[in-house]
Amino acid sequence: MVDRSPTSFFIHTFGCQMNQADTEIVTALLGADGYEPAQDEEAAGIVLLNSCAVRENAVDRIGNFLQQLKGRKRKERSLVIGVIGCVPQFEKQPFFDAHPWVDFVAGPDNYRSLSSMIASAREGARLSKLDYDHRETYAGIDPVRSGRIGAFLPVMRGCNNSCAFCVVPVTRGRERSVPFRRVVDETRRLADSGFREVTLLGQNVNSYLDTAEGHDFAGLLDAVSCAVPGMRIRFTTSHPKDISERLVRVIADRPNICRHIHLPVQSGSTRILQLMRRGHTREEYLRKIDMIRAIMPDVALTTDLISGFCTETDGEHRETLSLMEEVRFDSSFMFYYSVRPGTWADRNLSDDVPEGVKKARLQEVIELQNAISLERYRQDAGRTVEVLAESESRRADSRLMGRTGSNRAVVFDRGGFNPGDLVRVRITDATSATLVGEAVG
Ligand code: SAM
Ligand code: SF4
Repeated sequence: MVDRSPTSFFIHTFGCQMNQADTEIVTALLGADGYEPAQDEEAAGIVLLNSCAVRENAVDRIGNFLQQLKGRKRKERSLVIGVIGCVPQFEKQPFFDAHPWVDFVAGPDNYRSLSSMIASAREGARLSKLDYDHRETYAGIDPVRSGRIGAFLPVMRGCNNSCAFCVVPVTRGRERSVPFRRVVDETRRLADSGFREVTLLGQNVNSYLDTAEGHDFAGLLDAVSCAVPGMRIRFTTSHPKDISERLVRVIADRPNICRHIHLPVQSGSTRILQLMRRGHTREEYLRKIDMIRAIMPDVALTTDLISGFCTETDGEHRETLSLMEEVRFDSSFMFYYSVRPGTWADRNLSDDVPEGVKKARLQEVIELQNAISLERYRQDAGRTVEVLAESESRRADSRLMGRTGSNRAVVFDRGGFNPGDLVRVRITDATSATLVGEAVG
């Protein structure tokens, strides 16, 4: 029989790593107030959707999920449904009004109120908490981590940039940084409890600033990597206009910082970059790449790309392809532009690239990236690389899945190794997304 304890909760998490980290914070906050995580949605008396508003199709997915939950709520009146995160913060009251079977909505700065909102829902109240709190960093909360090998650690929240296409400044508010000491101490705690890797998270980590102690992100990264020399350190996301030579030198100097930089470019056309309000030109981006590669020739670079932004011509799309050819990213997250209501682009530009053209351009971008990734990954064949084993392979438990420092996924015959081990793996084959090999020691 399914246990539907009224205090058991299940969180569906959509979107970015920051949302995954927030789910771990919410799990800790609810746990401290006597709620317990359920195995799955079916077993839960409280269902939360931690939502993403970055693209239209992400919002549509939340809508579809909510339709399914509507049926469940009809049969089970005591079920409590909450939507948290970026969608309600972005769409505000109209979203809540349009979904009367949702008991409450809470934005990213309001998670400390969730327990009381659940209690109110049980008494029949429908509450919405969408305030911004520009000091909230959830410092001091000990997140309930979903994994045991790698951990996400938000070091800042919010974003002060104003990229024309992006909802994040609205959904997550102004930038604020987690105090330097807390980040360093938390990383030490993670190492002590057996974690092998930590990823420092922020929408633009280069803006990290602990004003009290006078530390920027380069200082933080250096301190964290020195505090836990046996742990792998990753970070994301860097903004191209802000990444500094000082930061790149820290990455190059510290052996436990992964030599991988995710540096979203979005477009290869200076005119489009200006319309996107990204704050740099194509040439400035390429100069940053040259600077990074001069310091770290073996660095892995990845990016985000948007096809079909407002007024993008075919020639400007080709500039994106040529930038990809020039930089030869290891991999990319690739999207077609979806207009987000209320953003600068929505208010000031015309979303005039037909959907079919956006999708066709995106397809060209994906095909080119796959070809470049395959070529780059194949260069690893015959080499021996160091892999942090993360899990058993989904297809066969005689194999492990892990990642290189450059963030390439590797599937390999496990030998005597287990998840959590750092393994030297000889690469025998590659696809455009995965390296294949065998453990050699
Ligand atoms: N802070 C990061 C940066 O500035 O590079 C990116 C954060 S955003 C959540 C992740 C990615 O989603 C962006 O880099 C962009 O490629 C994509 N994205 C954001 N808004 C979009 C939109 N309206 N349409 C399509 N893709 C979008
Ligand atoms: Fe959005 Fe730009 Fe901020 Fe990234 S830097 S979160 S794309 S506004």
